[in-house]
Amino acid sequence: MKANCISCQEMVNAGNNPLLGKIITCPKCDARLEVVWLEPLELDWPTDEYDDDDDYSDEDY
Ligand SMILES: [Zn+2]
Repeated sequence: MKANCISCQEMVNAGNNPLLGKIITCPKCDARLEVVWLEPLELDWPTDEYDDDDDYSDEDY
């Protein structure tokens, strides 16, 4: 399955059975893209970019 890179619009191949949340890398611009929808395949910026920043607490709840 393929989708357009949201950074450079290049067609990116996510494999035959991509999973939601799978991270793929655009071969053209090196952007990290997360599979957020499957039919049609849709890519978005990964949501785990802030994993190395522990300043956030659970105050949302
Ligand atoms: Zn790209």
